[in-house]
Amino acid sequence: MRVNVRVLIDGPSELVFDYAVPDGLRVEAGCRVRVPLRRKSATGTVLAISEGAQMDFALREIEALTDPDPLVTPTLLKIGRWIADYYGCGIETVVRALLPEAVRSEENSAKTRRVAVLDAKPDEELMEKLAKRAKRQHAVLALLAHAPEMRLPVPDLGDGANAAVKALAEAGRLRIVVEEVRRDPDAGQVEEILESKPLALNPAQQVALDAILESLEEECPKPQLLLGVTGSGKTEVYLQAARRVIDMGKTVLVLVPEISLTPQTVRRFKARFAAMQDRVAVLHSNLSQGERFDEWHRIRKGEARIVIGARSAVFAPLPELGLILVDEEHENTYKQDTVPRYHGRDVAVLRGAFEKCAVVLGSATPSLESWQNSQIGKYQLLRLDERADGQSMPIVRVVDMRLEATKHKGGPAILSDRLRVALEKRLEDGEQSILFLNRRGFARSLQCPKCGHVCTCPHCAVALTYHRTDERLVCHVCGHQAIVPRKCPECRDPAIIMQGYGTQKVEEVMRKVLPGAKFARIDADAMRRKNALRDTLHAFKSHKIDILIGTQMIAKGLHFPNVTLVGILNADIGLHVPDFRAGERTFQLITQVSGRAGRGDLEGEVYVQTFTPHSPSIQYARRHDFDGFSEQEMEMRKMFSFPPYAHCAVLTSRSAHERRAEFTLQTLHLRLKEELPDGIVLGEVLPSPLVRSHGQFRFQITLRSQQARPLTRHVQAVLRRTTLPDDVTVVFDMDALNFS
Ligand code: ADP
Ligand code: ZN
Repeated sequence: MRVNVRVLIDGPSELVFDYAVPDGLRVEAGCRVRVPLRRKSATGTVLAISEGAQMDFALREIEALTDPDPLVTPTLLKIGRWIADYYGCGIETVVRALLPEAVRSEENSAKTRRVAVLDAKPDEELMEKLAKRAKRQHAVLALLAHAPEMRLPVPDLGDGANAAVKALAEAGRLRIVVEEVRRDPDAGQVEEILESKPLALNPAQQVALDAILESLEEECPKPQLLLGVTGSGKTEVYLQAARRVIDMGKTVLVLVPEISLTPQTVRRFKARFAAMQDRVAVLHSNLSQGERFDEWHRIRKGEARIVIGARSAVFAPLPELGLILVDEEHENTYKQDTVPRYHGRDVAVLRGAFEKCAVVLGSATPSLESWQNSQIGKYQLLRLDERADGQSMPIVRVVDMRLEATKHKGGPAILSDRLRVALEKRLEDGEQSILFLNRRGFARSLQCPKCGHVCTCPHCAVALTYHRTDERLVCHVCGHQAIVPRKCPECRDPAIIMQGYGTQKVEEVMRKVLPGAKFARIDADAMRRKNALRDTLHAFKSHKIDILIGTQMIAKGLHFPNVTLVGILNADIGLHVPDFRAGERTFQLITQVSGRAGRGDLEGEVYVQTFTPHSPSIQYARRHDFDGFSEQEMEMRKMFSFPPYAHCAVLTSRSAHERRAEFTLQTLHLRLKEELPDGIVLGEVLPSPLVRSHGQFRFQITLRSQQARPLTRHVQAVLRRTTLPDDVTVVFDMDALNFS
């Protein structure tokens, strides 16, 4: 029977061709092959096999396999197809995500070295003979005879040993083997890792762990959502579950939002599994190509048993996968913002289903998508409602900035008197503080500093965006427009203003107000220098800094026992963006940030400065009440058919020519409207909240649907039969998290 294969050619142009397989060559889907292409040859990945197809003599034959085994496992290939279909992107872009550049490129290969090996102890007679006649050969054999396993890399035998080694090998007195050496990313690391022992679990942790252990035994385990307040000991549960999986002879995949911002989580895994340190792989974004190549093959061969990485590690080719842990599952960084725009958490759940392995999603503030899944029984819900170390949750104080605004004439009120007094007290007591500035304020909303009123859309309940150029307010969900009010519609005050200031400004003001304190700032600007982030965090940990100022990038898994005060300077900014998730993000931010206070023996306190102290996200976060928050938020989502009650996608056009960007999207809109499948809600063409970015004008359409696939397919079908102008880029984002 004749076998044909469909091959995706490497390179940017998504070429897919069929080839015949020559007799005697075993080819599977996922194999890497060399094939003839026009007059040259090229490399590619086998996407599919078609057996017994008609004899097609026109087909050219594969030249060779570049690797004997398929590099993409059948399951990962299946996941790749799913992603291409669900997110509406080419399989080529997905295969590129599955096989990192470092692995695909033929320029990378394993690093090898020659090792001299003795199979048996050299006999005395020979040694005596050599001692007299060939001193170097004698020295080499003596060294080898005492080496562990009687083997040593040739370079370790010393300069000038080469000739002796060669002579010995030719005489059959030793063997030379070529072995791969791993480029160890941790080599040269000074910090020694001490093994940590498992803690005795508290009852709630034990219940959660037992449920996870039970699912490890199941044929097709249901994903589990571990909802545990900050400091409730989720990580300890992960560690003990991972231990069981390792003991069962299986492997563990740990996903974190970002490696450099979750050093504690990585360190705790390394410490717990210190005894098998060389079997833990951490996929940093700063691995060299060679290191990445080695780590990937080490994982593929099953040598690494625990893999820790960010989003893209969800494709790590671990064999015998037993457990996938997704820490801080609500984090936006799990969604890739370039093609393929997959969500790492969702792919993790899918992979769990395909590989029949357990999946645990953990968070103190689960996404409402995952929460909903736990409510309808798709996921099993596990809870840890109290802090593990017996500490109480920090006290959250809401500061009404409307009162402050009347005191500070002129410039923006950055620091309230209450927060200033609290900071001064910490300085006196030798304790540390963190100040957060919410920077999700890409879009400008209008807010009254007197009463806190924000102009919102009557149809969608999201903040209206202020467009300065033509003085209008626009709803970026439904297109509703309004004129800019001269006075606050609520309290009639004329001072209605745009809010916003940056971390630099904050630092300036703080240095004036607290001249005795030592400050450091963490934001994208200040962290440009290599290792700046690591060094700053280290300095803060060793108390060379009193007050750390940063954006929400430091709200993640950091742990500073001496921090007793956390201030959120502008909790509102993220609340009044044209995004139905604004409330959810603000709730998450306040809760996560609060989790940074009082992690040690000292009690923590949080100050939240806001112009809208009554807003539900702030009030529920103040009381650490996820249930209360989710209940009212879900009601809103249901009422307006937002996720998790529908899938929401965005189609964006971009161009340096404003009219062309708009016109292209209008054309697409017309075509989308024709034969619009039932159940799809098609929004209007609107300027994006960030109308102009990087010199490009941007327009967007929001689409919603109960079912994801019909939406993606409809959009893809329209895109396929529409020729786009060269200077317009159109982007489709399924399950979009970013509406800017
Ligand atoms: P989370 O991951 O939920 O934020 P952690 O796992 O970081 O929580 O735990 C918070 C703190 O409580 C850590 O210092 C941890 O060592 C400690 N801890 C966790 N579990 C226990 C336990 N069973 N007994 C005592 N301390 C614990
Ligand atoms: Zn609206």
